[in-house]
Amino acid sequence: VGVAAALASAAPTRTALSQFALPNHVALVTGGHRGIGLEMALALVEAGAIVYCLDLPAKPHEDWLRVQAYAAQLAPLEHGVKGRLEYACGDVTDQAGMWKIAEEIAQREGRLDICVANAGILRGAECLEYPAEDFRKLIDINVNGVLFSAQAAGRQMERLGTKGSIIMIASMSGSIANQKQHWVAYNTSKSAVLQMARSMACELGGKGIRVNSISPGYIYTQMTRDFLDTQPHLMAEWSAQNPLGRLGRPDELRGVVLWLASEASTFCTGSDIIVDGGHRAW
Ligand code: NDP
Repeated sequence: VGVAAALASAAPTRTALSQFALPNHVALVTGGHRGIGLEMALALVEAGAIVYCLDLPAKPHEDWLRVQAYAAQLAPLEHGVKGRLEYACGDVTDQAGMWKIAEEIAQREGRLDICVANAGILRGAECLEYPAEDFRKLIDINVNGVLFSAQAAGRQMERLGTKGSIIMIASMSGSIANQKQHWVAYNTSKSAVLQMARSMACELGGKGIRVNSISPGYIYTQMTRDFLDTQPHLMAEWSAQNPLGRLGRPDELRGVVLWLASEASTFCTGSDIIVDGGHRAW
């Protein structure tokens, strides 16, 4: 009876659509100055969140400037709530630096609700020849960087008693070994991210913090463009490997991040959401 009463008292009082709103929520998105990270950040801003987009220090990317201008002219939501994009610089491989950035955001805004650990790199080399330094660097960014970002946000969520959402960007490459592409380091790193999300979900569930991952298939961004520049024939090959016959666009990941970040997914943790145009079903 106690459990049933607790469940009944937790029943939603809002409509399904309004559960996606993120009024005054604060988010940190790593690798957020372009590509998938920037599109995800924009989705959170449109739902009313204040989103800190973190990237390595560099001149603002043209995509960032375009999206920032678009976000600035968005109309306020109900009750005058308006999301905003904030520019942040940092290196996800710097654990102390990431912890400090999250602490500063939480102090400045009074809360930190969402972390999208998205920063990542892709470097290919034959497995028997993969240079040690390149392997270490990729793992440092794609695995350690995801851990440090999640720690940074999770520590603030715990301190503030926030029922937060941590979202790690994995890849379908975490579950399949892409044929002929020499991605041993990348595939290994994404597989680690899948297991990191599950492990952290189990540890943090008792604190009300949810941890999930998203596994995109091939998405047309700077990362894939750099790769396709050297092997243009792969565009047709990747498209032919997909039931939808094409690569995905970064904006096609907006809905899933909004769902995971918001109250619409409060019973989802330790899960991986696949958004690959059916690649793995083919
Ligand atoms: P992009 O290369 O377009 O963006 C990655 C971003 O991460 C860049 O802004 C980059 O900054 C940033 N970054 C790299 N290293 C660091 C670091 N040490 N600290 C902070 N930021 C850093 O890639 P995508 O948008 O395509 O990819 C985003 C995520 O999605 C990655 O984790 C990727 O593995 C994953 N993914 C991508 C897929 C795809 O097909 N595109 C498919 C599946 C997963 P800078 O410009 O300074 O290097």
